[in-house]
Amino acid sequence: MLTVLLLAVLGLIIGSFLNVVILRLKAGEQFVKGRSKCLNCSHNLGFWDLIPLFSFIFLKAKCRYCKAKISWQYPLVELATGILFIIGYYHFLLGNNLITQLPYYLVYLIFTCFLIVIFVYDFKYYLILDKVSLTAFALAMVLNIYLGKSWQGLLLASLVVGGFFLFQFLISKGTWIGGGDIRLGLVMGAMLGWPHVLAALFLAYILGAVVGLILLIVKIKGWKSQLPFGTFLTPATLIVYLWGNNLINWYFNLF
Ligand SMILES: [Zn+2]
Repeated sequence: MLTVLLLAVLGLIIGSFLNVVILRLKAGEQFVKGRSKCLNCSHNLGFWDLIPLFSFIFLKAKCRYCKAKISWQYPLVELATGILFIIGYYHFLLGNNLITQLPYYLVYLIFTCFLIVIFVYDFKYYLILDKVSLTAFALAMVLNIYLGKSWQGLLLASLVVGGFFLFQFLISKGTWIGGGDIRLGLVMGAMLGWPHVLAALFLAYILGAVVGLILLIVKIKGWKSQLPFGTFLTPATLIVYLWGNNLINWYFNLF
């Protein structure tokens, strides 16, 4: 129980850091330099303004100094990161040999962080930055090879999905799919390998269709009826990374 609590706190802190990364990627700043400031009044934020999740709740989603609204992105990313850290604990560590399983858990955490950044950035700005996706691709290759996966399988998965997106990009002249999605296809392949990447692709299309339909019906004011494809590819990748075997077995047992 204590482990879960500690991992939740760690997840919240890392989530808070991911928010900063997203913010500074947008601003083109360096990650570590400089103090956190209010985006509206530029007042330096103190310790009590920067506690993940809790500051947002206690400040009632407003800046302490100028009362400007604080985006829901901050607590949501923190919470999601915390939850994913705990899910990974139950999936990779609980009841298993800690020493042999720890590398798998750590790699999962790294992949999760990259996928969260890509998801939020694409959701907000309709863009997947090359420096994020290409770093994730290289890192996923190295880490998965280190964990014993065959590099041929990873490369095949990357090339098939990246190539599939490239094909769509070319025949639609970039209207069906963005260039960033091609690089994200490489990332998916390097994280999931072959044939799991196909399950993620399939799942992303289902998610996209379901959410697209809901958005069409609900028509929330100010929301576009379409979300960028990366916001479906990233959760699909994470779901298949965790439960890909179960999903594939379940799917084939249907027939
Ligand atoms: Zn302020």
